[in-house]
Amino acid sequence: MPKQAGSSTPGESQLGAEVEDQLRAAFKALPHDMPVFLFTDGKSKDPLGAAAKQMMRLFRNLSDRIKVKEYDMDHPEARKWNVTGAPTFLFAPERYSIRYMGTPFGEEGRTFLGALILIGSGTGSLSEQSRKVLKKIDSPRDVKVFVSPTCPYCPEQAINAIRAAIENPEFISLEIIDIQANPELADKYGAFSVPQTFANDVLIAQGAQTEELFLLSLEKMEQQNVFIPESDAAVLDVDLVIVGGGPAGLTAGIYAVRSGLRTAVVEAGQLGGQVAATPIVENYPGFTRVPGKTLVDILVSHALEYTEIFQGEKVLEIIRGDPLEVRTTRRKFLTRAVILATGAEYKKLGVPGEARLAGRGVSYCATCDGPLFKGKKVIVVGGGNSAATEALYLHNIGVAVTMVHRRDTFRAQEHLTRNVLGNNIPVFWDTEVKEIRGKERVSEVELFNGKTGRTQTVPTDGVFIAVGYSPTVELALKAGVEITPDGFIKHDSHHRTNIPGIYSAGDVEGGYKQIVTAMSQGTEAALSVFEDLKTPYWLSEAVVKAAG
Ligand SMILES: Cc1cc2nc3c(=O)[nH]c(=O)nc-3n(C[C@H](O)[C@H](O)[C@H](O)COP(=O)(O)OP(=O)(O)OC[C@H]3O[C@@H](n4cnc5c(N)ncnc54)[C@H](O)[C@@H]3O)c2cc1C
Repeated sequence: MPKQAGSSTPGESQLGAEVEDQLRAAFKALPHDMPVFLFTDGKSKDPLGAAAKQMMRLFRNLSDRIKVKEYDMDHPEARKWNVTGAPTFLFAPERYSIRYMGTPFGEEGRTFLGALILIGSGTGSLSEQSRKVLKKIDSPRDVKVFVSPTCPYCPEQAINAIRAAIENPEFISLEIIDIQANPELADKYGAFSVPQTFANDVLIAQGAQTEELFLLSLEKMEQQNVFIPESDAAVLDVDLVIVGGGPAGLTAGIYAVRSGLRTAVVEAGQLGGQVAATPIVENYPGFTRVPGKTLVDILVSHALEYTEIFQGEKVLEIIRGDPLEVRTTRRKFLTRAVILATGAEYKKLGVPGEARLAGRGVSYCATCDGPLFKGKKVIVVGGGNSAATEALYLHNIGVAVTMVHRRDTFRAQEHLTRNVLGNNIPVFWDTEVKEIRGKERVSEVELFNGKTGRTQTVPTDGVFIAVGYSPTVELALKAGVEITPDGFIKHDSHHRTNIPGIYSAGDVEGGYKQIVTAMSQGTEAALSVFEDLKTPYWLSEAVVKAAG
């Protein structure tokens, strides 16, 4: 039986006649040359280098379009291309920034062959959906994929990265690093399992991903586990549009589609809403402790079994009529009903320096930004559940936290308060932040103690603001939906608002602001929509009115 190209030992001269013929034919059909520069360390008689040379010659014999140049490490070309270890392969370095560090033995033969074929074809052959994501990458990504010759999943991830580097050479550079040939690099990055992918030194994926998830992780700079295809349709006709992809909106989506309604969930930002920014959830029945992000992945995957989700588009306007017209930043929906599940947003302190230094040390999300402050000092402002949760999270990941609270006791739940005090997190009681200062980044805060009247300046690297949330009601207001004196959407027990066809669910309604309550409100709202569309209450009300 002929051997697979990838599993052959580089030391052997033959791949098997049949495989060689197939490869010759495949290479011949490719429109572009495949230049490969190989750098080896001639002095040390490195066996890996010798094997790499043999392998290269083997491939070169299969096609004169594979243009091989071999250099020793002390050759000026090594400096020119910034080659730091041997053996290193550079693929078409004049066109792309793709390098393989090591000798592609075993499974890695597939990566090597994949690189040659993709370079010869001159395209990454990405799917349409992947291309859409790739287009959004508009700043450099220095990608490192750690692989090993015995890992059967590694070529999949390495080839994802090669495709991206070929399709976007302006911003994507790639190093595929064999951990066995480069143990010190693997050690430096803590890459003790493969494949592991880093972009700009941030871990963006553990394990092999689908092409779309890889690109999404590369775009977002963090591991993504759910990919939602984008739709190009300019106008969509549905029964129900759910505004907001938090727990309320996603749950409403599941129930609505199960009731037979053609449904679209539209989410402007992160799916999962506030849960996406919650470090650990400990009160979601069925899970003793679950990271918010994991819960979101589970919930989104479940919702996608039913409903279409349109992520990254904001609903701008709801125009009343029959049908209702829902305008987003990308398209228009014509719909019979709308559920507003727009949740809540972080409240601002409104002090000088807060807006200017937002994203430069001022943060509203410990899970998102906390890891950047490891080993540094931060202030957490607030005394409720969120402030206590965020302070504990930061403390647990090695950030030196001090809390600032304007009262003399916390409003947080008892066990959170106990945890904060038990962990000896210092607290400035009766104290308010008056100003956040810093040139380029936060460097200090000015604090005012309302009891003593004393003002003091405290140096800090960051300020995490957790002083509560405001319901997101701009869209509702614009549509003419009535709001309660507290600022929440006014609704009846069926989650109907004052506008026929427009409903509400979740934190935007007020009441207990919890994941399970938001889900239950989403469920009720979806079932109300279903029943009302079957028997529109507004028509019967109109009939009663007309009858006098
Ligand atoms: C730090 C933190 C910790 C928490 N911990 C817990 C906990 O441990 N347990 C618990 O039960 N609850 C917890 N909560 C509360 C819980 O997360 C919320 O009650 C729940 O997420 C509310 O769900 P929702 O769907 O109503 O709103 P949200 O989760 O706020 O979702 C609303 C979504 O609507 C989107 N949206 C708004 N306007 C538009 C628009 N115009 N177009 C498109 N999309 C729009 C937003 O982007 C958002 O994603 C926590 C909250 C925070 C912030």
